[in-house]
Amino acid sequence: MATVATDTVALTAQQELVRESIRDICSEFDEEYWREKDRAAEYPTEFVTELADHGWLGILVPEAYGGAGMGTAEVVVMMEEIAASGGGFAAAQAIHGGIYNSVPIVRHGSEELKERLLPAVAEGDVAIQSLGLTEPNAGSDSTSIETVAEEQEGEYVINGQKIWISRVDASDYLLVVARTTPKSAAEKRTKGISMFLVDIDDAVDAGTLTMRSIPKTASNAVHAYELWFDDLRAPADNLVGERGNGFYQLLDGLNEERLVIAAECLGLGELAIQTGVDYANERVVFDRPIGMNQAIQHPLAKAYAELQAAKQLTYSAASAVDEESGRAVGAQANMAKYLAAEAAFAAADAAVQAHGGFGVAREYDVERYLREARLTRLVPITQELVLNYVGENVLGLPRSY
Ligand SMILES: Cc1cc2nc3c(=O)[nH]c(=O)nc-3n(C[C@H](O)[C@H](O)[C@H](O)COP(=O)(O)OP(=O)(O)OC[C@H]3O[C@@H](n4cnc5c(N)ncnc54)[C@H](O)[C@@H]3O)c2cc1C
Repeated sequence: MATVATDTVALTAQQELVRESIRDICSEFDEEYWREKDRAAEYPTEFVTELADHGWLGILVPEAYGGAGMGTAEVVVMMEEIAASGGGFAAAQAIHGGIYNSVPIVRHGSEELKERLLPAVAEGDVAIQSLGLTEPNAGSDSTSIETVAEEQEGEYVINGQKIWISRVDASDYLLVVARTTPKSAAEKRTKGISMFLVDIDDAVDAGTLTMRSIPKTASNAVHAYELWFDDLRAPADNLVGERGNGFYQLLDGLNEERLVIAAECLGLGELAIQTGVDYANERVVFDRPIGMNQAIQHPLAKAYAELQAAKQLTYSAASAVDEESGRAVGAQANMAKYLAAEAAFAAADAAVQAHGGFGVAREYDVERYLREARLTRLVPITQELVLNYVGENVLGLPRSY
């Protein structure tokens, strides 16, 4: 029933290969698998292991460190396909961090750190699935983080709190973003922030990291945590990149990552449309398929058109990004995320409406797609913050915050 990503953009030979390989792996995980993971709120370990065993978590790791050395143009295909295959946003989110959290190490890590971790990430032996940025008092306003890392005798001692940190249960390392200079003393609010790798098991065993799973809905299979650091000790070697420049290092690569989020929304939207169309063709009310009614057809068609528009923007920016610097596609990346999330939500909402009462029955899946599509308008950045970016950086309007 559920289809895969529609072919309205021309793919390169390498992208075709990625799509075929991913499609092949995803075909082993059917709707029932994802339905059950969602119902039980259980991380899709089997699916992630399969991808890791085939080296897909190392898609962005350079070949010199044992990875596939591919780029954004390939990751967008991979993630769109995963979501469209039936896994939805939850399936893409289950591995998103595992792919992207190694990027700061690739771009900014010491040679020692790269050699120590990247081959193991590429092999699927080590997972760096979690990034800890958000705090109770610092969500959209991320430079207001209060977690501190203080250097003491060759170690960094970390104290503070994080919230909404995904996949800590599926990760060996947590990439923590902390202040090494207080905001008040930093030359700019974006300075004095650094990134550290924390060995999660070691920290838990030492009693310096405690965590609580946050009861939530949306993508049920992927868990998010509240974390507390209490004199957590990270070796100085685990500092990623340059001390004090962590915020810039985090931003470097963000545009590419945003395009991949857009691709995950596209896949979810395509999945929802296909599910809605299948049902609209089958369900007979007043002696005819409900899909004959324009009230059912038009919302699906409109969402489809919106998805295709978002897809053109996502794919054209993704092919440009590997040729230019990520910063050059900042506007397109932000707009693609905005449009793809809105289109995915419209698609899921239309699919729910087409299902009538069954739209809220778990066994028809569309209520899950709607929950997940709603989430894409909030994470990893809210739609409002994306529009702030466009207003300020594209339209030249005054900064509003
Ligand atoms: C399921 C889930 C998983 C997550 N995973 C991670 C993770 O792995 N790692 C991590 O670090 N974080 C993670 N997050 C956190 C996520 O990045 C934040 O929730 C998000 O950035 C918004 O921050 P906030 O929730 O504090 O909202 P706030 O910053 O409190 O904003 C609340 C509302 O006000 C709006 N708003 C605020 N300021 C403005 C403004 N100036 N102009 C217009 N509107 C404004 C926002 O858009 C939003 O709608 C996750 C969140 C969720 C829900």
